[in-house]
Amino acid sequence: MINTAAQATAEPNRVIVTMNEGESTTELIEKKGSLTVSVLSQKTPLDTISAFGMRSSRDCDKFEGVSYREDAKGNPYLQETMAAFLGLTVQKTVDLDTHLLFVCTLDEAECFADEQPMTYNDYRILKTGGSLSAPQAKKTKKYVCSICHYVYDGEVPFEELPDDYVCPVCKQPKSVFIEVEE
Ligand code: FE
Repeated sequence: MINTAAQATAEPNRVIVTMNEGESTTELIEKKGSLTVSVLSQKTPLDTISAFGMRSSRDCDKFEGVSYREDAKGNPYLQETMAAFLGLTVQKTVDLDTHLLFVCTLDEAECFADEQPMTYNDYRILKTGGSLSAPQAKKTKKYVCSICHYVYDGEVPFEELPDDYVCPVCKQPKSVFIEVEE
């Protein structure tokens, strides 16, 4: 489990990865000079996060019983419930006292269709028993005929209806409709 990963430059495509100093994974990256990043999707179970983030590979084989693939350099990346993976080569290492920052070049990458990456906020919601599939509470507007109180519910957004649209009930023009917040 890494601290931070972000794209740094586009040409060439560089990614920076920050890792806690002294951790087993950090030492492995230093030794090997390459790594993979598995981007968790919102469907990733908390067990996967615990298995990789809350224990050390000094004490166990984190990949035991887990389905994974290897990139061209033989570094493993997770397969199930992932949003993407990145195959990286370390170009430069910067000592940030508590952390090491690896400046990496991107060698290969794959985006898994339709999977949304899990943000730290998503993780906090899941950890406290929340659900990400619940619809976001958002204010939707509706248009009501001010004459007969018919509520427009067509497929086309009301704003995009033609100017000659009339209320299907009282036949008044589009201009008599008023916008109300639900
Ligand atoms: Fe009407």
